[in-house]
Amino acid sequence: MTESIELPALVLKRGEDARLRAGHLWVYSNEVDVARSPLGAFTPGDVVAIVDHREKPIGIGYVNPNSLIAARLVSRGLDHAFDRSLIVHRLNVALALRERLYAEPYYRLVFGESDGLPGLVVDRFGDVLVGQITTAGMERQKDAITEALVKVLAPRQLWWKNDAGARAMEQLPAYADLGHGEYGGETVAKEGGLVFGIDPVGGQKTGWFYDQRENRDLLARFVRGKRVLDVFSYLGGWGLRAAAAGATAVDCVDASANAVEATLRNIERNGLGDRATAIRADAFDHLKALREARERYDVVILDPPAFIKRRKDFKEGSLAYRRLNELGMQVLARDGLLVTCSCSHHMPRPALLDAIQHGVRHLDRSAQMLVSLQQAPDHPVHPAIPETDYLKGYVLRVLPA
Ligand code: SAH
Repeated sequence: MTESIELPALVLKRGEDARLRAGHLWVYSNEVDVARSPLGAFTPGDVVAIVDHREKPIGIGYVNPNSLIAARLVSRGLDHAFDRSLIVHRLNVALALRERLYAEPYYRLVFGESDGLPGLVVDRFGDVLVGQITTAGMERQKDAITEALVKVLAPRQLWWKNDAGARAMEQLPAYADLGHGEYGGETVAKEGGLVFGIDPVGGQKTGWFYDQRENRDLLARFVRGKRVLDVFSYLGGWGLRAAAAGATAVDCVDASANAVEATLRNIERNGLGDRATAIRADAFDHLKALREARERYDVVILDPPAFIKRRKDFKEGSLAYRRLNELGMQVLARDGLLVTCSCSHHMPRPALLDAIQHGVRHLDRSAQMLVSLQQAPDHPVHPAIPETDYLKGYVLRVLPA
């Protein structure tokens, strides 16, 4: 054990230590005793000792005086400085899990709070890493994080895809650039025996959605010999996995021209050109057109972007989920399967089920829930932080009433 580290204190009001002691990592601004530790005295990203009202230490964290989440805990107790060595330790713990889960180095390596590194996400694509920083506290550590990643993984490239909306709230600039290594070469995601070319700079989020991998694995049981529609297909993750698992005809639909072009390349690359295609269209418009044309699919997959980005958008967003699911069911063949997801953490599991069930009854059908979906285990849920449990979905069988 090293000597305790001298740090400015962030003092909590009486009783406001309970949630942290119960496992949570966040301090809200109204929980800080601002008479004793004025938030205005800190600059975004300052490292502090978070202490209770008796000044008993809880741990080391970082502050953002401008954010509703005023501080995030990175280490319990005061023995471990928030530095490269702590980050290396956290990376090694994170890596041990992923190496246990997956035979190949294609996965989410770091999932923020759940891996003890609040505000940091890192996805691994073989020897290419794509990182995302969402808080000022992590941005301050960017050099230490880069060094730690190079030390632990020796990547060919490390990209920073620092353009998430959350950065604006932390007053951080949005950018995407190479953080380590040299420009050039290709980046691929490997999943289920398929290879997907991805774009770490121009793509969505880190370029790939590893969170659905285990859910896509389930397709093998449901799609053999079937006609499949993959809506919000991005690079064709679901659709191509379905085609590879024996679906006879797969249509991928996405509004992004880049995504559709990349999907077409991925289809060719994986030798699925006889079974799969990709179409550029708005999902809602396309589903309506399919409905009018009386097209029917045996399996419809709905994996949209988050419709509810802020809590206050809940009502409108849940209506969008309901409308989308109704449209999805209307292009299902008799006794078809609906695979439906939400990645909005403001859309709790029961609310999604409720929206779907509303749609089922509105169309005078009945449904059977076959599988409940969640994010893959390389996106572990932090049991004390509900926001980390963001991905949910269902495989439903839809029948006449
Ligand atoms: N299903 C994908 C992830 C989807 S990400 C996977 O498994 O990897 C969300 C996708 O929805 C993005 O590719 C985005 O281009 C697309 N999108 C967003 N709004 C859309 C709309 N109105 N119609 C069709 N696609 C849309």
